Amino acid sequence: MSMNWNSPAHPEFLTTDNRRLSVNRIFCIAKNYEEHAKEMGGEVDRKAPFHFQKSFDALTFGPEVRYPSHTDDLHHEVELVAVLGHGGSNLSLEEAQSAIFGYAVGLDFTRRDRQAEAKEKGRPWEIAKNFDDAGVMGRVTPKAELPAMDNAAITLDVNDQRRQAGNINQMAYNPTELIAFLSTLQELKAGDLIFTGTPSGVGAVTRGDHLVGRIDGLEDLAIQLV
Ligand code: MN
Repeated sequence: MSMNWNSPAHPEFLTTDNRRLSVNRIFCIAKNYEEHAKEMGGEVDRKAPFHFQKSFDALTFGPEVRYPSHTDDLHHEVELVAVLGHGGSNLSLEEAQSAIFGYAVGLDFTRRDRQAEAKEKGRPWEIAKNFDDAGVMGRVTPKAELPAMDNAAITLDVNDQRRQAGNINQMAYNPTELIAFLSTLQELKAGDLIFTGTPSGVGAVTRGDHLVGRIDGLEDLAIQLV
């Protein structure tokens, strides 16, 4: 008798030149913008970045995104996503930069009520951050087609109202520094995604809401909560 495991396939992301590449892991950086850290009642840790992971099968590309169970306070976080074309351990900043294949607009959905409980109880953020459709990303633009991604407006509109507005130059740790740091913790691989943190203005969304995330130079990410 043979076992028949229905193990999920790693999702493939689409590039703007219509290539399909497999997602490996999803690393998400917390508190990487000073104003967002403050609105959450915290501050940026200048000694080292802080991160968590989402499962690869928590990722969706929309346009429909399922509102999750176990929350009355689902928050949007618009983020720049760096996509690795190759990996490595203990990467120098130069090696980390060359490991980036491209960038996309992403959304890190968060059960904010569950996160507040986790913080209060000293528990991990798992229940707040990892669920079906908890991570969303648009098509990936190859780095070769972009200017240096160190200065670009990042915004999120909900039902045509501006909720978040910032610039990726406000990150405490830029993508290259984040990748170099993560590569000291484990070997990074092709297909690893790094959600680089959100600017201020996070807030609640509900079923039926239409969200558009934008970062200068990248393809817009437009989704609907269902
Ligand atoms: Mn986030």
